[in-house]
Amino acid sequence: MNLATPIEKLPGTSFLTLKKLKNIEINNYWELLNYFPFRYENYSIVSPISSLQNGETVTIKGKLIEIENLYSKRGLKIQKAKLADASGQIDLIWYNQPYLLRVLKSGMYLSLAGEVKGFFHSLSFVPKEFDIIRDFGQETIHTGRLIPIYPEKKGLSAKLFREKIHYLIEHHCKGNYQDNLEELLPHDITKKFDLLSESAAYKQIHFPRNLQLAKQARERLAFDELFLIQLSSQIVRRDWEKENVGNAFKMETQSLASLQDFIKNLPFELTSAQKRSTREIISDLRKTKPMNRFLQGDVGSGKTVVAATACYFSYLNGYKSLFMAPTEILAYQHYQTLKKLFAQYQFNIALQTRTMKNFINRKRVSKNNNVKKNKINYDLIIGTHALINQNLEFDKVGLVVIDEQHRFGVVQRAKLKEKGLNPHLLTMTATPIPRTVALTLYGELDISLIDELPQGRKSVKTYLVPKEKRQAGYQWIRKKINSDKAQVFIICPLIEESDVETMKSVKAAKKEFLKLQSDIFPQFRLALLHGKVKTDEKNIIMRDFKVKKYDILVATSLVEVGIDIPSATIMIIEGADRFGLAQLHQLRGRIGRSEKQSYCFLYTESGGASIIEKLKFFAKTNSGIKIAEYDLQRRGPGEVFGTRQHGFLNLKIASLADLDLIEKSRQAVIHFLRNHSLKSVANLKTRFKDYKLTQISRD
Ligand code: ADP
Ligand code: MG
Repeated sequence: MNLATPIEKLPGTSFLTLKKLKNIEINNYWELLNYFPFRYENYSIVSPISSLQNGETVTIKGKLIEIENLYSKRGLKIQKAKLADASGQIDLIWYNQPYLLRVLKSGMYLSLAGEVKGFFHSLSFVPKEFDIIRDFGQETIHTGRLIPIYPEKKGLSAKLFREKIHYLIEHHCKGNYQDNLEELLPHDITKKFDLLSESAAYKQIHFPRNLQLAKQARERLAFDELFLIQLSSQIVRRDWEKENVGNAFKMETQSLASLQDFIKNLPFELTSAQKRSTREIISDLRKTKPMNRFLQGDVGSGKTVVAATACYFSYLNGYKSLFMAPTEILAYQHYQTLKKLFAQYQFNIALQTRTMKNFINRKRVSKNNNVKKNKINYDLIIGTHALINQNLEFDKVGLVVIDEQHRFGVVQRAKLKEKGLNPHLLTMTATPIPRTVALTLYGELDISLIDELPQGRKSVKTYLVPKEKRQAGYQWIRKKINSDKAQVFIICPLIEESDVETMKSVKAAKKEFLKLQSDIFPQFRLALLHGKVKTDEKNIIMRDFKVKKYDILVATSLVEVGIDIPSATIMIIEGADRFGLAQLHQLRGRIGRSEKQSYCFLYTESGGASIIEKLKFFAKTNSGIKIAEYDLQRRGPGEVFGTRQHGFLNLKIASLADLDLIEKSRQAVIHFLRNHSLKSVANLKTRFKDYKLTQISRD
């Protein structure tokens, strides 16, 4: 038996339970073992019945004498029983759990954990958990110890997880520890870094002897996770460094002049952070080693133009570039922006996405000729992230830009290589990653940081609007539209993203739109944008909004990433409490993109203190990095970085806030690479392979 055993082999597990487990991606014993509790309940004190005190939480053990259903006047069902041990007896009371009578029979021995309660002069016991036992010395699972509390998901109870995981630890990890939970790391590392053994860590994280050990276990497993991540970045980096097969671009006098000319003729002066990033990129592009650089900059900091400059340099060297955005709308936007920037230049730009092939200059691409066939003369091809998945043949691609991507594109690079390309890669993100974290966890990347906004930008004034001021807010906006021709985004509240829910949010958005159009802003021109609007239409709406054919754009959180409409200066976010901080920041980043003062109004129906605190913090903070750090402290990285939209690191157990452990594991990786090879540590090698697979499949 080993840990790759499929979950179906778990004894006594119903088909339905198996299905639910698979639903949350628990397919084998190993994955189940890696489902961790988030806290423990302390039931470790075992008391004789005679010494019970009112109010205490304890475990008692004894023989069940009788059990019956009682009906109270209000129809409430009470299950009442008596339990006896050598010292005395006590009433057990459950509320509304009639099925217990089918499970518990008098004469059985039980271990029960719960609370002692006084009812009229006598004590009763309200059990929360119980084990049916054969004798009093037997090990219990749900009582008489620190018991693990697991997150309950998809109708799977904490109790069920406890039972199944206990079974794994008892039956498959104990006798066979050596086979199953083999140590991941070489001995010199566990020793040097003072780590609990792998097998002890798994046992103690699920069924800890004490909280101290539980903590050590968690630390050990978090260490493993961080170790694997950093090992993988270091190995990628090492391989990358060995490679010297890229195309070194040359900086001829002529191309230098052209570049300078382009930068000089931009409609604005580059910020010094943009200049610095551009220099760093250009310097990478001149090396034979293919560039692998992350360009990080807050929303609106001006990453696009930096990437455009790099693409132009690629062109000056006779190479094509690919520019990939996460959505078709964004691809179209980039297409328009860059077309404008390069209007005066000999630099041909094409748009190639699933539904927008037709935007490609028709003169060049006749109906039957797609990009592949006529080996086009385009110097820059803009598309979505799927661009390289398409069956297109690109020749002479010197540079690939991936916009709004938070992970380095291992997959993309492999794909490009399949096509015989080994271009320079530039990945861009607005997701603020604390620099220390980025450097350690993304060790494979070089990072350029745009840490300032273009001159003259005013931070967006953000207000949390109390309910009673909603109408006044609308009135203020009406005035602003009338007096300044202000343009407004109204963001509808977030509704969970699943198929059914998309429909719901579309419905909600439509309803909101109608209300706004007829009741609130009848005198203005409104447009509606949501997930079910066809791409072409979306583009037309965005384009029309940009040229001020609309005053107000009502939208779902669709507009979150990357949209650039500098003339829009007001945003209302409805149901602001439903958005995460990172998302709010992205949304707000759609305004404040010009020299005009912008305003963001947060409307919320929720009055929860912690939500209000969060929104107030957001209202007074404009820096993405500060928001990320605050979020990191409040919720931990799983939540902050773990959602799909912004997701890049899906940590199971480690915390990005734990800088000490990150540093410790980084040291361990360095030590490991100096003294060992992956090949020589069998278990690590397999786990590493699995690790990479899951990483890649998420990409
Ligand atoms: P992001 O970094 O969020 O992708 P964009 O590249 O879309 O930001 O740029 C945001 C806006 O700022 C665009 O309208 C762009 O034209 C403008 N912009 C970029 N750089 C500057 C600059 N140095 N000075 C003034 N405006 C700039
Ligand atoms: Mg952008």
